Amino acid sequence: MVREDKALIGYLLRNEHTSPFEQVVLTFHCKMPIFVARQWIRHRTARVNEMSGRYSTMRNEFYLPETDQLRTQSRTNKQGRSDEDLSAEEKQQVLEMLNKNQVAAYESYERLLGAGLARELARINLPLSTYTEWYWQIDLRNLFHFLNLRLSAHAQYEIRKYAEVMVGITRKVAPVAYEAFEEHVLRAKRLPASVCKKLKKFLSSATGGSTEAEELLKILDE
Ligand SMILES: Cc1cc2nc3c(=O)[nH]c(=O)nc-3n(C[C@H](O)[C@H](O)[C@H](O)COP(=O)(O)OP(=O)(O)OC[C@H]3O[C@@H](n4cnc5c(N)ncnc54)[C@H](O)[C@@H]3O)c2cc1C
Repeated sequence: MVREDKALIGYLLRNEHTSPFEQVVLTFHCKMPIFVARQWIRHRTARVNEMSGRYSTMRNEFYLPETDQLRTQSRTNKQGRSDEDLSAEEKQQVLEMLNKNQVAAYESYERLLGAGLARELARINLPLSTYTEWYWQIDLRNLFHFLNLRLSAHAQYEIRKYAEVMVGITRKVAPVAYEAFEEHVLRAKRLPASVCKKLKKFLSSATGGSTEAEELLKILDE
């Protein structure tokens, strides 16, 4: 029964009985700037085949941020950008500078190749904004782990955008499991023991015997 399967999938994910999720394997064909690939490759449980800059010529394709993403360094989050926009003039300058460097880097790359230098050496000055491609194969258990980390507001905007697209794909392949992931992992909170204790105290004193509070107390006691 679909209803029973749904309940079981939820139970398995909530209780970290994760091996059934490893039976579902997805392969993504991805193209991303190298700085995104460097964050992505940290997920060690995938099998990866990346295009080789030793074997083939790197394409003249570079990432330029969208103008609304050109923001200042955050003062509170050392790893991220703030909500504060640069001025229109500054944005223009930034984009011109990035673009100019990308064009110059690719021109030197072509010149080095033209002079007969090996591809594996000619590429070494290409910037982190250069696009690379790979096939990335991962099982559903580890994909959920990847999505949980890379959909987070703490993840860099650029990799987050990839994670968001992968959500749509994962939903199509495994809709019930994805729903369980949202409920039991992505939107769930793991509470420290001290917070659970406080919550229990609060619920016991504030309830006046309400059934809702009793249900919540039961969950906290599980
Ligand atoms: C917002 C954010 C900021 C980050 N900032 C930095 C940074 O500044 N510097 C930096 O170096 N990294 C950074 N990382 C990368 C981070 O430390 C992890 O390497 C990355 O998120 C992969 O996580 P993982 O190891 O859990 O995943 P995976 O490699 O996919 O592994 C999945 C799970 O498998 C298990 N596993 C895999 N390999 C091993 C192993 N060898 N031993 C034991 N268990 C294993 C673990 O349970 C692990 O959680 C950042 C990540 C995020 C999301």
